[in-house]
Order: sequence, then structure tokens, then C-alpha cells
Amino acid sequence: MTSISGKTDIDWSAFARRLAPVQVIDEAVVVKKRSRDFFWFSPILNEQLKRCFGDLVAVPKTVEEMKHCLKLAFEAEVPVVLRGGGTGNYGQSVPVDGGLILETTGMNRILEIGDGFIRAEAGVLMADMNKALKETGQEMAMFPSTQDIATVGGFVAGGSVGIGSLATGALREPGNLIRLKALSVENDPQEHVFEGEDVLKIHHAWGLNGVITEVTLRTVPTVDWIACMATFESYEDTYAAGYTVATAEAISPKMASIVDGRIVAYFPGLKGHLREGCHLLAAYVPADDVAKFTQMVTDLGGYVDLTLNDVEREAKEIPHVFEFCFNHTTWQVLKSDRSATYQQIGVPDPADVGAISKLRADLGDDVWTHHEFFRLDGEVVAIDLPIIWFSSKARMDEINQTYAKHGFAVYEAHSNQVERGGLHNADYGHLAWKKRLDPKGLLNSAKSTVWEMVKDLSPEEIEAKTVSEVSS
Ligand SMILES: Cc1cc2nc3c(=O)[nH]c(=O)nc-3n(C[C@H](O)[C@H](O)[C@H](O)COP(=O)(O)OP(=O)(O)OC[C@H]3O[C@@H](n4cnc5c(N)ncnc54)[C@H](O)[C@@H]3O)c2cc1C
Repeated sequence: MTSISGKTDIDWSAFARRLAPVQVIDEAVVVKKRSRDFFWFSPILNEQLKRCFGDLVAVPKTVEEMKHCLKLAFEAEVPVVLRGGGTGNYGQSVPVDGGLILETTGMNRILEIGDGFIRAEAGVLMADMNKALKETGQEMAMFPSTQDIATVGGFVAGGSVGIGSLATGALREPGNLIRLKALSVENDPQEHVFEGEDVLKIHHAWGLNGVITEVTLRTVPTVDWIACMATFESYEDTYAAGYTVATAEAISPKMASIVDGRIVAYFPGLKGHLREGCHLLAAYVPADDVAKFTQMVTDLGGYVDLTLNDVEREAKEIPHVFEFCFNHTTWQVLKSDRSATYQQIGVPDPADVGAISKLRADLGDDVWTHHEFFRLDGEVVAIDLPIIWFSSKARMDEINQTYAKHGFAVYEAHSNQVERGGLHNADYGHLAWKKRLDPKGLLNSAKSTVWEMVKDLSPEEIEAKTVSEVSS
């Protein structure tokens, strides 16, 4: 069998036979499909990555099968990329160097549910975890809006915030990620356990420093959640109401999102249910708090268009409220028009509505803001995931500069380098563990600019480096 990627020089048929009894997929059309994620949200990444494919997919069902795959990859020096649900949007799971795609969806057993935690294999879908937890009166403290397709291993390796982060903080906040198990890529792959602060050595490393096999995550008691949709005539009022709801001590929302009315017009699922032409505050609020939520919205000049429990929502055939938030907002627009894209922007002072107003006036008609609130170190923070009508890379740079000029940080969504996005810098802790767990640098190395510079150092030498060395 020749190389599908055109980048590797090994006998893939022989390699596939050696993988037995592990299930493999070698049909070129399927291998190519499994080489993609949601990088196409970015026209820049789409150009770079649309012709990058792996050579073979393996779907191990147990830790032993996963070890077998990693041992053979180590022997043959084959590039390896882990894949869960493939919902990452920076091309994190695209096999840029070709090679073996290890899909975790066969490792899908929930191992234990206790009071305040769930322990599961890496390939379990987040929605299945929420379903199993419900029977015990619990739910995930947080989950991504992609919960129906995303795996828990992929969320821990590639995700950062989600529905629930307004209540319990980003995934990296203490107590959310309780324990991880990860395998090394060696002749005899070893399972390493990371607990407490050490989970951050593996979290959000895009699968380049170990293969997560098991995850223990925080759970919280479940409540009757109500999808609340409120509309306002001005964006500023919507944002101010969202901030009030997000910071109010009297209510405990799991999510609060602010969406520009021009974006809302692209939500067919809400057509006829909201006041036309208005901006949207979408929130997930406990049933006991709905009256207080309604009062807050009314006091701030808004109107509550919808309050629905799950049964009512399904009867009206309206999607989950979280399918209008985070990157689902972008996806809703992309379903009608592929020329849309997005960016990731940090808001310097979430309470400063005036700054948002001035910024919006400067941004131009091709940038439609969309804000999400969540908690970091106990404080409510905001990010903007605007819809941007893409015309050119030069215009995108100009938009980034406008944000920067107003003091808003740009966390580049159009790069597939881990150091350029949410991290904004090299994480030498990640890279030191890469050296320990992946000494030959086979795991997704193309996604780290800095790995090339440190790969010949010892783990201790890498760990001793400081962030400022990268910036210079
Ligand atoms: C419409 C949309 C909405 C989104 N909403 C959110 C959101 O609310 N919050 C959020 O944080 N993200 C969000 N994302 C990003 C993404 O969906 C999540 O991060 C998701 O949890 C990734 O899970 P996955 O199984 O699809 O991972 P994949 O895309 O398959 O993988 C993600 C990364 O993790 C690595 N990986 C996968 N499994 C393992 C493993 N077992 N061991 C080591 N590395 C592994 C992969 O190599 C890749 O680098 C969104 C994306 C889209 C397209």
C-alpha cells in the first residue's frame, strides 16, 4: 500500500498487519476524512491544511491495544496523531507529517461515577458522560458545546472552557481536572498518572506530549436548567445585562452569551421565536432563578422572549441554548455562508461597556461581535469570538490591529501552532514532558514551533527555560 499522505516511506500494508488485532482503516477516502477537523472555520488554515492526510487509522479499544500501536509506531518511527471526535478548530488533529492516526472512540467506557467526580476512558463522548451522570443526580461541571461529537480526552487535550465555566471556571482551574493517565511512546509504553496541579503538564498540549487514556473530571449536582433568551435593542445594553447576570450573586447561570443581532439573523432554529433585529442574551439558568433573571433583564431595558425547559424546547424543535454559544455561533453562520470566519479576543475589563462600544464603532461592518463570560481565579472575564466576513489576510491583520489598538488581546485562531493560540507562549512544562514521554518526537510535533528548538535538550533543561526566552 502506497503512502496516502505522500510523506512517509514505509510499507503501510505490512504495518497494518502488525497492528492486528487492533481495528484499522486503510481506505484512502476514509483515512482522508479522518485527517480533517474543523480547521475549515479558518480560510487561512483551510488553505494550509486541506491537503494534509494521514496514511492509516487505527482504532484501539483497550489500553493494551493502544500500547501495542504506540510500541509499533516507536519501532518504525512513524508520526502519530491522536484523534477523538475531530472537532478541534485549529487543525490540532490534522496529521501534517502523514503517518498513523490513533482514533480513541473505541476506548469508550465510563469506569466510575462518585460523589463529585467521573472517571472515564479517553474516547467517551462528553454527552454520554452527562447522560450517565444525570441518573446519579449529577452533571459535568463543564462541557464543550460540541458535547455530542467531542471525546473527553480531546476536550482535555484540546479544549479550555465550556458550558459551566461561568460557574466553575476554565478547565485548567483547580479542582476541575482531577486526574489524568497518559501513555508514553516507547518500546514498552508506560502509563503515567498526573494529579493535582500536575494535570496541567498534559492539559491543552494538543496531544503532543502523551496519549491520554483515562480522565477524572469534576461533576456537580444537576439542577433543572432553563434555556433563557432575552433580546435588547442595543448591543451595549445586551452586554451590560449579560455582565450583570454573569456577576450577580443572586443567580447561578451556567452560561451567558451575547450575540450581535446580525449574527442572530443566521440562527434558523430561533426564527419566529425572538424579536426581529434585536441583539441576544442567551443564558442557561436554574429554574429557581428564572424569575430573578427576568427581573434583571426587564430592569435593564430588555425583553425575555423564551424560557424553556428541555421538554418544551424539544417540542418547539429549538436546539440546545449552548448550540448558539462559543464556536457554535460561528458554525451556525457558516452553515449558510462559507465566507464567514472568526477570531479569539480577550476583553481587558469585562465591566467596561464603554470600551466595547468604542471598539465596535472602530471595527467596521465586516466584524460582528459575540461575547462569552466565564470565570478565571474566581473573577468573571469575557472573550469575544466575533464573526468576521473574510476578505483577505491583510484585512484580517488590520482587524487584529484594531483590537490591539483598543487594548484587546488577540489569541490567534488562524494558526495550528500551539504556542500561537490560547497559550500565547511556549509551555516548557508541556515540552519537558514531551521529551520524557515522547523521546523520538513522534506525537503531533508539527504543531509546536518551539519543540524543534528544544528537542535535543534534556527534560530538566527544557523545564528550566522561561517564557521570556521564547518571546525574545
Ligand atoms: C462548533 C464548535 C464548538 C466548540 N465549542 C467549544 C467549547 O465550548 N469549548 C471548548 O473548549 N472547545 C470548543 N470547541 C473545540 C473542540 O470542540 C473541543 O475542544 C473538543 O472538546 C475537542 O474534542 P475532540 O474529541 O473533538 O478532540 P479532537 O479534535 O479529536 O482533538 C483535539 C486535540 O486533542 C488531541 N487528542 C485527542 N484525543 C487525545 C488523547 N486521548 N490523548 C492525547 N491527545 C488527544 C488531538 O490530537 C488534538 O490535538 C468547539 C469546536 C467547534 C468546531
